[in-house]
Amino acid sequence: MKISLFNSILNKLIVLLWLCSFMGMAQAQVTIEGVELKDYSKNIYLKPWHSYQQLVALPDTYPAMDKQTHLWWLLRKAEAEHLLYLYPQYVETVTAAEQLLVDASKDDFSSEQVISVNLFLGIYFQKESRYQEARQRLTLALEQAKAENLSYLFIRSKQELAYTLSLTEHYEASLSDMQAAYIDAFALNDEFLIATINEVYGAIYGYMQEYGKSIEYYQKALKSYQLLNYPSYTAEAYNGLAATFRYWQKYDKAIAYYKKYRQVVSQFHSGEILYFADYGLGMSYAEKGDCQQAIIVIDRALQLDGLIDYDAELLKRKAQCLIALNELEQAEQALKRASDIFAQLPELTNTRWQIEVDKIASSLAFAQGDGNKAYQLLLAYHEKNNALLEAKSSERLAKLRTNLEMERQGVESSLLKQRAKVLKLQVEQQEQKNQLQSYIIIMAGILVIFAAFVLVMQRKSHEKIQALSVIDPLSKLFNRRYIFNYLDRFLINSSGSRGSIAVLLIDIDDFKLINDRYGHPFGDYVIREVADIAQKTFRSEDVLGRIGGEEFMCILSRLDINQVMDIANRLVSQVAEHEFTDEHKQAVKVTLSIGVAQRSDTAPDSENLYAQADKALYQAKHNGKNCVIQYRQHMRHPYQSSQT
Ligand code: GH3
Ligand code: MG
Ligand code: MG
Repeated sequence: MKISLFNSILNKLIVLLWLCSFMGMAQAQVTIEGVELKDYSKNIYLKPWHSYQQLVALPDTYPAMDKQTHLWWLLRKAEAEHLLYLYPQYVETVTAAEQLLVDASKDDFSSEQVISVNLFLGIYFQKESRYQEARQRLTLALEQAKAENLSYLFIRSKQELAYTLSLTEHYEASLSDMQAAYIDAFALNDEFLIATINEVYGAIYGYMQEYGKSIEYYQKALKSYQLLNYPSYTAEAYNGLAATFRYWQKYDKAIAYYKKYRQVVSQFHSGEILYFADYGLGMSYAEKGDCQQAIIVIDRALQLDGLIDYDAELLKRKAQCLIALNELEQAEQALKRASDIFAQLPELTNTRWQIEVDKIASSLAFAQGDGNKAYQLLLAYHEKNNALLEAKSSERLAKLRTNLEMERQGVESSLLKQRAKVLKLQVEQQEQKNQLQSYIIIMAGILVIFAAFVLVMQRKSHEKIQALSVIDPLSKLFNRRYIFNYLDRFLINSSGSRGSIAVLLIDIDDFKLINDRYGHPFGDYVIREVADIAQKTFRSEDVLGRIGGEEFMCILSRLDINQVMDIANRLVSQVAEHEFTDEHKQAVKVTLSIGVAQRSDTAPDSENLYAQADKALYQAKHNGKNCVIQYRQHMRHPYQSSQT
C-alpha cells in the first residue's frame, strides 16, 4: 500500500519534471552571458563596446527570435549605439524598432517596450533638431510611463524632454521639469538617474552661460558615474566639463578635461567620438593661443571622419593660427577649404560661423600687405555681422516675450489654482457652518426634550411625594387624609377588642373674626400655636391631625370618657389661657370648642364617629364656645336646628 502510493507520487514528479523541461525548451530564453535582453542595460553601461559586440553577434546564435525578443534586442542595441555615438547605426535601429511597432497588433509588445521606442525616437528627433516631434514623442513616453507606473522610464523621458526644451531655449520650463524629475529620482534613490539629471542640469546651465553652476552639476554627475563605473557616462561628464570650461574661456582646464575625455572614449573604437574629442581639444588650444599644439590636434581631427561643418570651424582656427605663425600660404589654403565647405552648406550662409571667414580673410589680406582688400573684407564682415546682431536682438526680444508669456501663464495658472483653493475653502467653511447650525438645532431639541422629561418626572415625583406625604405643612400635624385613614384602620383592627376609642373634633372659635381683624398671617400663627399646645397636651400615642381650616381631630384610645373629657377640657383651658400676641405685641384672646364622640354601636365606623363628634362640636358652639361637649343620642344636627 505504502509502496504503491510512493510510486504514484514518483510518477507524477517525473511527469512534472518532463513537462517543465519541455516548457523550458519551448520558451528558450535569449540571453547574453546568462543575462536576459530585458535586463541587459547594466552590462551596456558597464562595458558599452564589449556589450555592443555581443548584441551585434546575437542573431548568429539565435537566428529565429520571436517578435518580443527581437524588439528587446533592437532596444538594447539602440541603447548601446546611443552610448557609443554610433549615430547612423542608432538611427537605423530605432527606425527598425518603430517599424516593428507599426506592424504589430496592440498586445504584441509590453508597455515597457512601447515606451522605450517612443523615448529613443524622441532622442533621435532631438538630435536631428526636430524639436517639435521630439517634444511630442517624449511627452507621449512620459505620459505612458506615468500611466504604467514605470518610474525609471518616466524620469528618463522627463529628463530628455527637459533637455529638448533647453535646446529651444525654454530654460525656465526645462529647469522646473528637471526639478520634478530630480525629486522623482531622489525618491527612487537611484544613483544613476540622479547622476543623469545632474548632467542635464550641467548642460542647461551651460547653455544659460551660468558656467559655475554648470561645472558644479557636471562634477556631481561625474562622481556618480565614476562610482558606478559607467565609462560612456563618465566620458559624457568629462566632455560636458571640458566644453563648459572652454566656453568660460578657462582653456587649461578645458584642455585637461578634453584629454581625459579622449582617453576614455578611445576604448569605444568609434572614429566619430575621437573626432569630437580632438575637435574640442584643438579648438581649446587655438582659442588659448597655443597655435603649435592647436595645429597638431586640428590636423589629427581633420584626418578623422567628422562632421563637415565642424571641419570648417577647425579650418578657420587653423587658418588664424597659421596667420599668427606667419605661414600665410598654408593659412590661405585652410581658409579656402573652410570657405568651400560653407559654399556646400547654404543653410549656414550669413550665420556667424560663415561670415567669420570674411573676418579671417581680412586679417590674412592685411598680413599679406593688401590693406585695401583687408578693409573691403572687414567692411563686408561688419555689415553682415550688424545685420546678424539686429536679427539676433529681435529674436532675443521674441524669446524674451515668450519667456514673459510663459511666466505670465505660470502666474495665471497658479492664481487660478489659488482661487480654486479659496473657493473650496469657502464651500468647506459654509458646510461647516451648516453642520454647526444643525448640531446646535439638534442639541437644542435634545435639551428641550430633556427639560420636558425632567419637568414631567419632577411633577410625577412631586405628586408621588404629595401622595406619600402625611404631614400638613402649616401645623406639622398629620393631614386630613392620614387621620381618617388611620381612624378607619384603627377601628377595623380593634373591632374585636372593643377597647374604647374616642374622637375629639376641635375648632377654633370665631376664627373668621381673627382673620378679619388681624390678617391671615396671624390666623396661620394661631393655627400653629394651637397645634403646638394640643400636641403638648395629648399623650404621645394619641394621634392628632388638622382636618381643615381651623379644625383639628384627635383620636384617643384606651381611655374612659372621663379621662377623655379631662384632656379635652385641659386643652380648652390651656388655649384660653395662652397668650397669643399680634404684630404690635398686643395680646389676643383665642378659644376653642371641642366635640367628643366615642365608638359605640351607633358609631362603629369613622363616618358616624365623625358625624357624632361634629354634632357635639356644634352643640359646644351653640353653648357659647370655649367648652367641651360629649355627643349624646338625640343631639340635633346643625341643619336640623336651623330648620326648626
Ligand atoms: P365659629 O366660632 O363658629 O367656628 O366661627 P368661625 O369664624 O371660626 O367659623 P367659620 O367656619 O365661619 O370660619 C372659618 C374661617 O377660617 C374661614 C376661613 O377664612 C378661615 N380659614 C380656613 N383655613 C385657614 C387657614 O389655613 N389660615 C387662615 N388664616 N384662615 C383659615
Ligand atoms: Mg370651623
Ligand atoms: Mg371656627
